[in-house]
Amino acid sequence: MCGIIGYVGQKNAPDIVIDGLKKLEYRGYDSWGISIKKAKSLVITKKVGKISDFHDSDSLPKGSIAMGHTRWATNGPVTQDNAHPHTCCTGMISVVHNGIIENFQSLRKELAHHTFTSDTDTEIVAHLIEDNYKAGMDLQGAVRMALKRLEGRFAIVAMSSEYDEVVAAKKGSPLVIGVADDGYYVASDIPAFLDHTNEVIFMEDGDVARLASDLTFTDFEGTDISRQSKPISWSVEQAGLDGHPHYMIKEILEQRHTIKEAVSHSDAKILKVADMINKAKGTFFIGCGTAGKVGMVSSYMFSTIAKKHVNDVVGSEFPNYHDFLTPETLLICISQSGETADTLEAIEVAKKKGCKIVSIVNVMGSTMMRMSDEYILCNSGPEKAVCSTKATTAQMAILALLAYACAGRFEEGKRVLSRVASSIDVMLDENYLDEIQFLSKKVAGYESMYIIGRSQNYPMALEGAIKMQEVPYIHAEGFAGGELKHGPIALIQNGTPCIALVANDAVKTEILINALEIRSRGGYIIGIAPEDNDIFDFWIPVPDLGIASPIANIIPIQLMSYYTALEKNCDPDKPRNLAKSVTVK
Ligand code: GLU
Repeated sequence: MCGIIGYVGQKNAPDIVIDGLKKLEYRGYDSWGISIKKAKSLVITKKVGKISDFHDSDSLPKGSIAMGHTRWATNGPVTQDNAHPHTCCTGMISVVHNGIIENFQSLRKELAHHTFTSDTDTEIVAHLIEDNYKAGMDLQGAVRMALKRLEGRFAIVAMSSEYDEVVAAKKGSPLVIGVADDGYYVASDIPAFLDHTNEVIFMEDGDVARLASDLTFTDFEGTDISRQSKPISWSVEQAGLDGHPHYMIKEILEQRHTIKEAVSHSDAKILKVADMINKAKGTFFIGCGTAGKVGMVSSYMFSTIAKKHVNDVVGSEFPNYHDFLTPETLLICISQSGETADTLEAIEVAKKKGCKIVSIVNVMGSTMMRMSDEYILCNSGPEKAVCSTKATTAQMAILALLAYACAGRFEEGKRVLSRVASSIDVMLDENYLDEIQFLSKKVAGYESMYIIGRSQNYPMALEGAIKMQEVPYIHAEGFAGGELKHGPIALIQNGTPCIALVANDAVKTEILINALEIRSRGGYIIGIAPEDNDIFDFWIPVPDLGIASPIANIIPIQLMSYYTALEKNCDPDKPRNLAKSVTVK
């Protein structure tokens, strides 16, 4: 959460920073700010609201060194004072920060001799640097010394009015450097500077980078280290809207091909991970939010396809399982960004016990990928809408293929996934979108809705509820069909929209009976199913995919979430209170 970009080079730095912040807006949009070096001073502009609403770059001073930040508030309300950059007492030093300084309370007491102008943890860093600076250190040394005092996860970029440089450091939160002919870029994510270069260096935890007329790295102790850039294959087109009104609909429709790409890995790669799973004594699928639901779906797939017991645990709860971890335990970590703080912490806990780590991530070079013994990329291209769509189905497809590989049915798995990919491509035609848009007009009029599923479609009921909560702000809840009569059925009122997720599987009859129970109490049944049924008030057809049905069944709910958000005038790409890449705990 929070987007950071800094630049030192021949182009006009404020333009680059403002443009980069707009590309990073999905990471946070409470407020934004920019620090520009102008002669021997720093000019700072901060505003509450979205950077995308700012169209006045010409009002900013020109310069060759600047950095900016788009905030997702953790410490302190959304105000102009709390927007980054934060400065020291003299205004000579400015700092932007992603993460949480966990010992901020004690540090703030210690720094009581400074004048604080915000409620943030970040401002502490500016004052720590200021003290080190006054003690005679240069900017890089003062930053390094300050970092040693900080507990928690952070990415920090600092500037001084006295140095023609930007200093960046990271521990836990992401930072990537862009190397171009015109200069050096540092940002939370690659799309921020992809228009300028695709030559990147993923900073490691403990790295301090100095961006000036040259690019140098040290560790937190000041020892020189060497980092090599490498090209990344993401294109500017992939990262843009490509003619669509929103990233969310672009990314939903990209599922026409992303599922195929998700499973286009070498046989050796998939078989190697399957072998790790088969050899492990205890496998945990770890994810947060939507990725947690992917883990849950996959535990059903592993049970059905591979006859294998795996545990699925949400990242933030995983540390509670540390007593059960041994060097033979395997973690399969699922994350779009590869930067999810709770999952990274789960990995840290597991690594201390010598466990093996496999990650399934979309972002190449992400922290999770680099912390893992083995990784499988989703190959989905950048996912920029806050709610995950194409990365979700890619992760499910990869895990389904792994389940087949674990069962010694790899070739069959490849055929199944190929059929999944082509049938979703066929499913997502214009008429399909129109039908769901029509239905969404009705759904938008309700405050609550419920989604039921059984077996592998139960986690998709939970995931569907997340989709309807996070984008159109509908109070949606997912239930296992069998749980209805234990309480939730009391919520059903006349006309309440209820989605039943149906597949041609062993629980088809049961879930249809559950849908009928709701209908008998006045609920309006939206059936997502391969065939129509008299129980449904509205039928959304999906391909008949058996055990792989969750991959298709979630897509109409993604579309419903999008169109319902449009009906309600909600921004589908930037839902309130949320941000992409949950890099704080
Ligand atoms: N803790 C900082 C703030 O509240 C940064 C938050 C973040 O990275 O999400 O402003």
